Amino acid sequence: MKIKAIGAYSGTQPLEPMDITRRAPGPHDVQIDIAYCGVCHSDIHQARAEWAGTLFPCVPGHEIVGRVVATGASVSGFKAGDLVGVGCIVDSCRHCAECEDNLENYCDHMVGTYNGPTADAPGHTLGGYSQQIVVHEHYVLRIRHPEAQLAAVAPLLCAGITTYSPLRHWQAGPGKKVGVVGIGGLGHMGIKLAHAMGAHVVAFTTSESKREAAKALGADDVVVSRNAEEMAAHAKSFDFILNTVAAPHNLDIFTALLKRDGTLTLVGAPATPHAPPEVFNLIMKRRAIAGSMIGGIAETQEMLDFCAEHGIVADIEMIRADQVNEAWERMIKGDVRYRFVIDNATLNA
Ligand code: NAP
Ligand code: ZN
Ligand code: ZN
Repeated sequence: MKIKAIGAYSGTQPLEPMDITRRAPGPHDVQIDIAYCGVCHSDIHQARAEWAGTLFPCVPGHEIVGRVVATGASVSGFKAGDLVGVGCIVDSCRHCAECEDNLENYCDHMVGTYNGPTADAPGHTLGGYSQQIVVHEHYVLRIRHPEAQLAAVAPLLCAGITTYSPLRHWQAGPGKKVGVVGIGGLGHMGIKLAHAMGAHVVAFTTSESKREAAKALGADDVVVSRNAEEMAAHAKSFDFILNTVAAPHNLDIFTALLKRDGTLTLVGAPATPHAPPEVFNLIMKRRAIAGSMIGGIAETQEMLDFCAEHGIVADIEMIRADQVNEAWERMIKGDVRYRFVIDNATLNA
């Protein structure tokens, strides 16, 4: 079927309306009317070809929520009318060690919601800046939040799971001092989730103007990372720091804040590398620098259920489809509180 989308024909052109096709649902497929799609900084990196290997036309979007309109004959877990979500993953090999451990996000054959290999036209996957999507049932998530919160649930599908998974893996919780660096889409979710898990949360920002707002998100303390004195007050005190910044920067100022055996985990994926870290900063206290990528499907469902139970959603600014180019420019300047979400009904306009 033909549907409307917005996407880019090259890395140097703005997004523009386009018609795309979706496959008819196969036996295990779920066909979804997309109500809202969050705008992730990865969408910008990919569509602007800041990361290697972008395939055009590129339709970004992997924070998808909506309603099931049809299901294949073998689908038993979903029915028309259900509220569902789709995150960053729409396929994987389903039998490697990673898939068997429910870590499809680390499968070598993981297929991203956009820019991934597929038999469907045009030969690569097209994402959620579109009216509908057809996805194998294994990669469809159930939404248990009230329907009125649906738009604000969308960012959980990437920003939520990308922060939830490392916070769980490195055991954020009572008695732990946890830092979150960068208060954007990912960072603001990291603050909310770490707070809900019971950790003592310190937010790091380059924006003085976000100081008070970060406390409202659940931060116990806020540090402006450009202020060396404020940084020094937290030296050697963190169990874990989650770094969501979308641009290269000095990592040493954060590793210096870790206590013995502490970990700085990078989820931000800038297009150009960070300067190499100071090795002595790591050696002297057995500190580690790690990375983490989104989360598996089971853990994404766990995160959605955790958020429904704790009343957690993203703080969003709703936009029309024709406002996405402008929204991207604002995100690049750090001018978003804290996630843009597209009202996909406006694709019809
Ligand atoms: P975002 O909303 O744009 O937030 C990034 C934040 O980083 C900004 O709000 C800003 O916070 C801070 N920042 C400081 N200096 C910056 C600079 N020079 N340029 C840009 N940001 C700067 O982005 P996001 O959607 O949260 O994504 C963050 C990064 O994570 C991106 O690189 C994205 O591709 C990546 N990502 C990775 C995964 C994964 O699986 N690992 C998943 C999703 C996204 P302050 O104003 O508070 O300093
Ligand atoms: Zn994302
Ligand atoms: Zn696999």
